[in-house]
Amino acid sequence: MLFNEVIFGPVKSRRFGVSLGINLLPVDNKLCNFECIYCECGWTEEKRGKAEFADRLVIAAALRARLIQMKQEGVKPDAITFAGNGEPTMHPEFAGIVEDVAKVRDELSPGTQIVVLSNAMLADREQVRRGLMKADRRILKLDAGDAQTFRLINGPQSETTYQKITNTLESYAGKAEVQTMFLTAKHDGHVIDNTTAASVSLWIQELKRIKPLLVQLYSVDREAPLHSVKPVSKEILERIAEQVRREGIRAEVF
Ligand code: SF4
Repeated sequence: MLFNEVIFGPVKSRRFGVSLGINLLPVDNKLCNFECIYCECGWTEEKRGKAEFADRLVIAAALRARLIQMKQEGVKPDAITFAGNGEPTMHPEFAGIVEDVAKVRDELSPGTQIVVLSNAMLADREQVRRGLMKADRRILKLDAGDAQTFRLINGPQSETTYQKITNTLESYAGKAEVQTMFLTAKHDGHVIDNTTAASVSLWIQELKRIKPLLVQLYSVDREAPLHSVKPVSKEILERIAEQVRREGIRAEVF
């Protein structure tokens, strides 16, 4: 499923309430530096020339127009969420756009939270860090406690290591939330199950180092591009969340 607009929604989100989405990526193609086996945008299509990012001025104007319209309709968003057709921090003007969005929010919808969902791949770059820190909530992905599971679930598309990602997450200690997708699947001749005792134990070791403000646990709720992906039950998510809480880290199941 691709978003065909720069501003989409609002949608009623279990995690963020009434959420107005911002898509900084091309409207006709997913653009991401991961290839997660559960991605709601599907697999990345063959690249078709240079990626067309949403224009910074267009984004601010579209958000302004949508917030004015919502005000007239008597609807106030709880959140403005950077999500959409891929990884928002890949936009070359990400930091400036978050600043613009914050200005428009302050003027037209004070109290609405700015949320960024990111896979953290570029979160060690200065420009990206500036943008992430301008948001009210930064929610960074960590689906695995070891390098092999990370590679199998998230399929990083460019040169990176699991260690680099977790070091980046650690550099946001006490300033970011972590979101984790739990699932089972078969992929590349491997069985993937990040809910096993061994996998959860390694993942919790990383969380203790990363010190997130909150861990959000969830599972797939629609068909994934890799058809062998299966959701895990709420009971299993709750059991894992309880283990996280025992380490003094806040955890919520969605
Ligand atoms: S990081 Fe997000 S957008 Fe990118 S492949 Fe994974 S789920 Fe899809």
